[in-house]
Amino acid sequence: MTDLTDPTRRLNLWPESASRPVGTAIQPSVVYASPDPDTLDAQYEGRLHGYTYAREGHPNATVLARRIDALEGVSDGIMTGSGMAAVTAALMGVLRTGDHVIGGDQLYGRSLRLMGQDLPRLGIATSLSDPTDAERFIAAIRPETRMILLEVVSNPTLRVADMQAIAAAARERGILLAVDNTFTTPRGCRAIDLGADIVIHSVTKILAGHSDATLGYIAATDPDVQRAITDFAVTTGMTASPFDCWLAERGLLTFPLRYDRAEANARALADHLAGLPGIRRVLYPLRPDHPDHNRARCILGDRGGHMVSFELDGGRAQANALTRAAPDIAFAPTLGDVNTTLSHPASSSHRGLTPEARAALGITEGFFRVSVGIEDIETLKAEFEAAISNAGRA
Ligand SMILES: *Cc1c(COP(=O)(O)O)cnc(C)c1O
Repeated sequence: MTDLTDPTRRLNLWPESASRPVGTAIQPSVVYASPDPDTLDAQYEGRLHGYTYAREGHPNATVLARRIDALEGVSDGIMTGSGMAAVTAALMGVLRTGDHVIGGDQLYGRSLRLMGQDLPRLGIATSLSDPTDAERFIAAIRPETRMILLEVVSNPTLRVADMQAIAAAARERGILLAVDNTFTTPRGCRAIDLGADIVIHSVTKILAGHSDATLGYIAATDPDVQRAITDFAVTTGMTASPFDCWLAERGLLTFPLRYDRAEANARALADHLAGLPGIRRVLYPLRPDHPDHNRARCILGDRGGHMVSFELDGGRAQANALTRAAPDIAFAPTLGDVNTTLSHPASSSHRGLTPEARAALGITEGFFRVSVGIEDIETLKAEFEAAISNAGRA
């Protein structure tokens, strides 16, 4: 008989219940006890499913990964502790010294750093190319090119990659195509349908959606590639926290509603901004004046996404005046929150570039990127209008 009088004993006292909990439980346990070595053998050999140690996997990561798998139309994806852990595992789990990788030239800032500094340090050659120009991009392929890393819609100028042409070229040559689908989400486009072999997410952004969990996700269509990536992520400790997975699963329950609302708001805000004095240009993939409008229609259909960028007349003084005049819109370098956030690439994500390199991308001191949230659109329009007019007086 178990001695309940000793409070120091770990005992399984969870009560039986004829009814089931509606919410997912959180399981923070690091270790799992098996009944005997034969059972442990069966677990390691895959004959029985069982957890052993949380770095290797835990129920909250499994639950969340199965849900994102279903959205992306894949199986056996894994959760990682951040979006950058997912990008890193996708590359480092597969590539070896002597391989070559091509990345889009407007990847997420830390992905650019990985390509520019860390992979070359390990003997993996990299190059960056503009994925809106498929011919030039494909010309960068070398005999030792093993992988291509793309984002469908770029940050912050929202250019749309020529996915079809690049995916076809990659497939023909046996090159793995990894797609970071964070901006577009599986609701905007399914990476696998576009020809991706590996799909990556920063779940931190709109999938989780509340700026309170840092997580990533990776899935590969080839089970051997998936195994290599999973082993690398487990070995290097890129584990996701059970609590973050639990929060993200709760966020995911409203993801379709949040995405649709944020997208409708983004489209309306883009059109509103385009009609305001003091605005030099507005970038939104589905607007007819977007440089990749036709390709956006073809790849994204009517899903323009929740990101809008615009360029203000003026320089840093006008940019300062704009953010100060919009105190209820967080000036913060993130995206995908339930609320609208505003980022200024010249002072944040793209501050490391030379002014010439920024100018080549069209990122001036007046350039802003907006991650549009789910607020009332009339309030958002009014707040932006007031802030832009204040900037004009600066
Ligand atoms: C934010 C982001 C990442 C990195 O994700 P973290 O969760 O912040 O590590 C990678 N790719 C894209 C496109 C992102 O927006």
